[in-house]
Amino acid sequence: QSVLGILGGGQLARMLALSAAPLGAQALVVDSSADACAGQVAPLVVADWADYTALEAFAAQVDVVTFDFENVPAETARWLAQRVAVFPAPHALAVAQDRLAEKTLFRECGLPTPAFMAVDTREQLDQALAVVGAPAILKTRRLGYDGKGQFRLRALADADAAWAELGAQGSKHGLILEAFVPFERELSVLAVRGRDGDFRTWPLTRNWHTDGVLSMSLAPAPDIDVLQQHATALARTLAERLGYVGVFALELFVKDGELLGNEMAPRVHNSGHWTIEGAHTSQFENHVRAVLGLPLGDTGARGLSAMFNWIGELPHMAPVLQAVDAHWHDYGKQARPGRKVGHATVCAPDAAQMAVRLAAIAEGLGREAQAVPVLHALG
Ligand code: ATP
Ligand code: MG
Ligand code: MG
Repeated sequence: QSVLGILGGGQLARMLALSAAPLGAQALVVDSSADACAGQVAPLVVADWADYTALEAFAAQVDVVTFDFENVPAETARWLAQRVAVFPAPHALAVAQDRLAEKTLFRECGLPTPAFMAVDTREQLDQALAVVGAPAILKTRRLGYDGKGQFRLRALADADAAWAELGAQGSKHGLILEAFVPFERELSVLAVRGRDGDFRTWPLTRNWHTDGVLSMSLAPAPDIDVLQQHATALARTLAERLGYVGVFALELFVKDGELLGNEMAPRVHNSGHWTIEGAHTSQFENHVRAVLGLPLGDTGARGLSAMFNWIGELPHMAPVLQAVDAHWHDYGKQARPGRKVGHATVCAPDAAQMAVRLAAIAEGLGREAQAVPVLHALG
């Protein structure tokens, strides 16, 4: 039996552990918190990222190490990589941890991005605003997630307020100012690359965010035309440049019908949760297969899938359990504002049946407003 080491014990580790089991692999999870939700389904080592005594023992017990959390210090990842196979490799993780390095790589790979400039001082914020213009978003280069560590500037006059909020963090890790893109759609492409270089993508996913947090996804994204080929080719170029092994997500904006790169997540991703029931092989299973050096599975979709994200607290599950081909995922976490506590996926063979099932679930849960743009996208 192989043992898969996972750094970080959130819902992604939990779903990785659950899909490792049928492949005969056991997960061993590291998290600094004893109530990390992956600990309910896999053995948990409670340690922080600088606890090299605990990490030494962990490394001795696992065949390969991977991530649930992309902000594991690159130092820790490199230290582990001297003792055990680590996928994705620490250098790929390091690029994805820094929005500046990440966007620079996107451009080198032929993927345009919103205009951006590095900002380390208050003066540089003014200089960057003069180049990038307003509206714009100031983001921390590192450690941001779910829209945290960001400030939206509607006009040049918002610079003081933006600096008051993020300046202190900026002097530590640096900031980046990005042009605000009035995009037509947000898409993501989930991709996987094996240890032998085999590369695959799932069909593009369309995503809707509320307050910077993913709220709904629909896959395969309708009306994508040539964007699938473009996204796949770009993801492959990126993966090959990084020598990437495992699953990653590339978050994209569509502006004037063209793709712009927002960020990449060097791990399984929330916008790929639909693949558990909606694809022949899920992102979780293919990530486990990739890092263990097993053949990759078919990434084709079975039909259409729509995912609801549950933020803060779970709704009643009855409307989902009673629906046809709908699936409930409770992460076993305490309710807390802004926290991802679960998701539900509904699948259907075609757009017409998806619209009926989605509308019924949304009504049962009082989430009609959330479903409106998804129903609209279904036509
Ligand atoms: P994640 O949870 O996906 O890691 P994050 O905190 O890293 O999120 P981003 O992906 O940079 O943050 O931004 C969150 C959301 O905010 C995006 O999905 C998008 O909806 C919006 N957004 C971010 N940057 C821009 C931009 N330059 N123009 C327009 N909207 C943006
Ligand atoms: Mg991010
Ligand atoms: Mg994002």
